[in-house]
Amino acid sequence: MAFPWPTSPPTRSHRAAFADATVRPHWIDALPAREPRPPLAGAAEADLCIVGGGFTGLWAALYAKEDDPRRDVVVLEADSIGFGASGRNGGFALGSLTHGIENGLARFRDELPQLERLGRENFQGFVGDIQRLGIDCDLELTGDLVVALEPHELEWVAESAELLGRFGHEHEVLDREAIRAEVASPTYLGGLWDKTDAALVDPGKLAVGLADAASAAGVRIHERTRVTRLDDDGAGVRVAVPSGHVRARRVLLATSAYPPLLRAIRRYVAPVYDYALMTEPLSPAQRESVGWKRRQGIGDMANQFHYYRLTRDERILWGGYDAVYRYGGPVRPELDDDLETFAKLSQHFFMTFPQLEGVRFSHRWGGAIDTCSRFSVFFGTAHRGKVAYAVGYTGLGVVSTRFGARVALDLLNGRETEATRLRYVRSKPVPFPPEPLRSGVIQLTRNRLDAADRNAGRRGLWLRTLDRLGLGFDS
Ligand SMILES: Cc1cc2nc3c(=O)[nH]c(=O)nc-3n(C[C@H](O)[C@H](O)[C@H](O)COP(=O)(O)OP(=O)(O)OC[C@H]3O[C@@H](n4cnc5c(N)ncnc54)[C@H](O)[C@@H]3O)c2cc1C
Repeated sequence: MAFPWPTSPPTRSHRAAFADATVRPHWIDALPAREPRPPLAGAAEADLCIVGGGFTGLWAALYAKEDDPRRDVVVLEADSIGFGASGRNGGFALGSLTHGIENGLARFRDELPQLERLGRENFQGFVGDIQRLGIDCDLELTGDLVVALEPHELEWVAESAELLGRFGHEHEVLDREAIRAEVASPTYLGGLWDKTDAALVDPGKLAVGLADAASAAGVRIHERTRVTRLDDDGAGVRVAVPSGHVRARRVLLATSAYPPLLRAIRRYVAPVYDYALMTEPLSPAQRESVGWKRRQGIGDMANQFHYYRLTRDERILWGGYDAVYRYGGPVRPELDDDLETFAKLSQHFFMTFPQLEGVRFSHRWGGAIDTCSRFSVFFGTAHRGKVAYAVGYTGLGVVSTRFGARVALDLLNGRETEATRLRYVRSKPVPFPPEPLRSGVIQLTRNRLDAADRNAGRRGLWLRTLDRLGLGFDS
């Protein structure tokens, strides 16, 4: 089979399928109505001020309280809990700290056995904490399925299976017949089911559940409170918001792809938009027609990949493929809607599941990913160690944010641990160049990745050079 996705434009019916969709993450739309927590007004004091109410900020708040219940912790969130990537993602909960074993081998070969073990412990801790805190977020331990759509990808399946085996993952290689028996798509040629450290969650419920657990532990959370600047303030830091400020002994930045409060972060992070569609709940007949009894999260294997999964109420989330970087890296609500990307996603969805013709999408949305050139979280401190940050998860942060939060807190408290000694924690990614070069380089790389996908995965000179330099672009 040639390149699986059509070069013909999406049809009117592909576009009609999402025309009435609500432009909002389904996960957030489906949450029970709740009163937002009040914005910060006036002057406040805190031992620790966390900026950002996503997974990183909320795990950090919880751990700061668990470490020392007397510590006064405040979280400031510009919009609402889970407003950022944490409420917009696919809910694929994977243990890897390195964006997969292959990327880990390319960038942290010496530390990978340790990083895989720490990732496994973090995954188990993630599942354990969700249970311990009683967070109902539709956790399903289904494993992760990658599907091959082209013959050359079958070789990649074999290579990936060898790596999973080497690092102790329980896994199963599926041939054409077996994969189609698992999930009914005429596009599948084979697959690989990783059964270790791979689950699904409802990320909206997880974000709200973590915030409620943090509030119950005594953390003060303020929504609709955008931090505008940080200033050194003697023994602490002054955290300014439009209607007041916090004087904090320590500050933890968990602002992901949003404009950073430290210039140092800007060099390393490019906000890359990723888009998703969510179907209406499938009818029993439609649901039956796709098989998918074991409900794994699914991704295809090309550079430009789709990810898709079922929800508890039997919808299908379908996202990925395009990864859109715009000049200057803006992050704005208007960018949540991108009709051309949705049209392509819709076209690919109906190619994958032609039996679902007529299904409509109830929601469509986009979200900014904090892409960095090594595809995994990085850390740093500023203001003489009084401020720490954890950003750069590059599209794989549902579970690793728990690890990132722990490490950032330890850096802030000057606590040396096995993790803080790692090169993984102490080193930074190769920075992206400033604009206008940045968008030029990213567009060229995207273009070359697309070309590789259309040419049986063969990487041209540009990509091979980046590979040699340890540089990359992903979402
Ligand atoms: C469409 C999409 C799909 C994804 N799919 C997956 C997936 O399936 N699996 C996976 O592992 N990962 C996935 N990811 C990545 C994952 O969602 C993120 O890595 C993770 O949620 C990052 O959490 P965070 O808390 O660091 O950042 P965020 O959740 O983005 O939180 C940052 C918060 O900071 C707030 N903020 C920013 N600036 C300020 C300021 N100045 N003052 C106050 N608040 C501020 C923002 O409003 C935001 O709420 C996906 C991401 C996207 C966008």
